[in-house]
Amino acid sequence: MRATLMYSAGDVRVENVPDPVIKHPTDALVRITASCVCGSDLWPYASMKPEDGPARMGHEFIGIVEDTGSEVTTVKRGDLVVAPFAISDNTCEFCREGLHTSCAHAQANFWDGEAEEGGQAEAVRVPLADGTLVKLPVAPDSALIPSLLTLSDVFGTGYHAAVAGGVNERTRVTVIGDGAVGLLGVLSAKRLGAEQIILMGRHQARTDLGREFGATEVVSARGDEGIAQVRELTGGHGTHVVLECVGNMPAYQQATGIVRPGGVISRVGVPQYEEAPIGFGSLFRHNIRLAGGPAPVRAYIEELMPDILNGTIEPGKVFDTTTNLDGVPAGYQDMADRKSLKVLVKN
Ligand SMILES: [Zn+2]
Repeated sequence: MRATLMYSAGDVRVENVPDPVIKHPTDALVRITASCVCGSDLWPYASMKPEDGPARMGHEFIGIVEDTGSEVTTVKRGDLVVAPFAISDNTCEFCREGLHTSCAHAQANFWDGEAEEGGQAEAVRVPLADGTLVKLPVAPDSALIPSLLTLSDVFGTGYHAAVAGGVNERTRVTVIGDGAVGLLGVLSAKRLGAEQIILMGRHQARTDLGREFGATEVVSARGDEGIAQVRELTGGHGTHVVLECVGNMPAYQQATGIVRPGGVISRVGVPQYEEAPIGFGSLFRHNIRLAGGPAPVRAYIEELMPDILNGTIEPGKVFDTTTNLDGVPAGYQDMADRKSLKVLVKN
């Protein structure tokens, strides 16, 4: 079969690889019908060293179950399923607490680690299939596929940012970042009833979609100027919750500048730094809390799916480009160049 491999920064290829096979009785084989390129794929695309490659890519997909191991009971051949970006059994003590990204029974949790495979491919072996896969009640060619695909990562990740930040109807929220996760963080804050949602982003087509998703204001300035504008919009105090959906140090520093005393900075952008200020001048002085981490999107699929199925929300609007497997390398470049917000890959 064909699959996407990243050899080093800027070097993504679609090549023939061995077909996946069932290795454990808890595995399933899935023929992929839809996948996508993630903003987090752009970090290695910018910096991966050749000695770390080639790596199989893709961790968001929908597909049809082709075969199952002898212990799999919740999905069967022919089912259309969605997979979250982390592998989990959905039964251990962490999964029961809704923290599937810390599953005690997954070896490495992530596709390129535990499965040694990826979703930007024709097929994939799914470990812990009973816990990981969720059956979708639609046909593979349904118009709802783009929105259902966001349950694999970006929507669940934006939702986790809002939940971990404690967003409710009494909160004012700032979302830093107009990528797909940031925009779906806006949709999530709206869903949780936030009274004010300020989106910080510079790309107008994206911030327009953010307004459609529920942003009440848009601030395009960054740094001190952006902080000053958010404070102006909030009576000088900043917002109760800041969803940091970028992951670099300037975004973190922006978050510390606009969070209200007693507030929460919730991070879901994979941090591209190991050290960040948490001392008196940044978090301690005003009782600021830091939350977030790899989103346990599996925990939110059943909760978020009904509103997609009934058309109340359309998170799939973050896909502005559609391609096929051959178009994946160009899709990476277009996202890196910010020509595409998020690329949908149809097999
Ligand atoms: Zn678990």
